Parts: sequence; C-alpha cells; structure tokens
Amino acid sequence: MIPGARLIVLGKQGAGKGTQCVRLSHHYVIPHISTGDMLRAAVKQQTELGREAKRYMDAGELVPDGLLLSMLEGRLAQDDTRGRGFVLDGFPRTTVQAEALDALLAPRGLDLVIDLEVPTSLVLERLAGRRVCVDCGTNYSVAAPPKVDWICDVCGGEVVQRPDDTEAAIQRRLDLYEKETAPLVSWYEGSNRLVRVEGTGTPDEVTDRIVRVVDESRRTKVVEHP
Ligand code: AMP
Repeated sequence: MIPGARLIVLGKQGAGKGTQCVRLSHHYVIPHISTGDMLRAAVKQQTELGREAKRYMDAGELVPDGLLLSMLEGRLAQDDTRGRGFVLDGFPRTTVQAEALDALLAPRGLDLVIDLEVPTSLVLERLAGRRVCVDCGTNYSVAAPPKVDWICDVCGGEVVQRPDDTEAAIQRRLDLYEKETAPLVSWYEGSNRLVRVEGTGTPDEVTDRIVRVVDESRRTKVVEHP
C-alpha cells in the first residue's frame, strides 16, 4: 500500500506546479488542493467569496489572507485530507499564510515542501502558451493542445487562455512571487522541511525527481524516528 503524504509545492507561476501536483495526487492517492482552482470555482459559481476574489485575481494581485485562510481551513477539515494527506498548490504564498498553515496542521505538520526551480525566461514562455480547461482546470499549452479542437480531453470542457495570463497580470504575479512567496523558500529551509527540485525537462522527468526526493525523505525520517 502506498502511504499518503502531506506536501506543498512552491514555484513561480508557470513552473509546472499544477501539472506536477495532479501527478503527485495520483501517485500518493492524496487530494490536490489548489487555492487558485478553488477560487476560480467560487468565481464561476458567483459566491460571495468569488465576487470578492475576482477583482484581485484579474489584476494578478493576491487575494487577502483572511479569505484564503477560512477557505483552506474548511478544505483541510474534510475527511480525505485528514486521512491520507494532501498536496497543496498555490498555498501558502505569504509568510502569514505559512505560519497560519503550521498552526492549522499542528501537531502532525508537513512531510515536505518542494521548491520547483525553473528560470524566469522559461516560465514567461510557458505562461504565454498556457491554456486551461474552464471546467476541470486541466492544463494544456499551444505546443501540447487537447486532442480535439480545444475541447478538454479529461472532461469535455472548453480550453481557453486564463484571464490573468495577460502580459501585465503575469508580470505583476511574478513580481509578487519574488516579494511575497520567494522568502518562504528560506523560511521552510530554516526548519529543514524544504527540498529544491529542478523543474526543467519533460513532465515525467520532473515527477520522477520529485517522487525520488519525497520517498527519500520518508526513508530518512523512518531511520530518525523508528
Ligand atoms: P494560481 O492559479 O495559483 O496562479 O492562482 C490564481 C490567482 O488566485 C492568484 O493570482 C491570486 O489572485 C489568487 N490566489 C491563489 N492562491 C492564493 C493565495 N494562497 N493567496 C492569495 N491569493 C491567491
């Protein structure tokens, strides 16, 4: 039996977090919790949270911590995450969120934080070509489109460019990443929970690298705490 896992994947927009989180979710049989997907679903359903979040999202700004935290707290309280764990995608994005997450996850905490490293020139290229299913969030690209005419292979939804993948919003998100999220790398490193993984190459190559470090960290922990 494959044991569950409690993982975070960090990385710039376009580093491949979404793609890798889906794969890790299948590999470790854990829910993929993407705060971006949850917010996009709220926008689509026009809930109060969705209406509030939309203006921040369209401008590439961060949605206020308070809104994010109550949304995430509800999700982490569900049985699937309490049992097998989770892979968090797009959260935390600020030190305030990371501290709040530690409090939410205590006493068990996290297994590992993976920092997916990709050069900015490559993420800009990927974001310009990125396309996404409006219904299930599956990622495609101009270079790797769905099989039939921009119809999602997974759910049959429409595959489009994200409204916040404009040049101005992409630049703003990358600036915010450097300012607010990049400091989390050393924050998690300081508590010995972070590994850096090279995010270039094919999706399969990157998944293999991540699975290797996650499994390796489990083995090390087993030795440390028999
Ligand atoms: P993503 O799909 O992860 O790129 O998220 C899309 C947008 O949702 C971001 O540009 C933010 O506006 C918002 N968002 C997602 N996750 C967070 C978060 N942890 N904190 C604040 N805003 C977020």
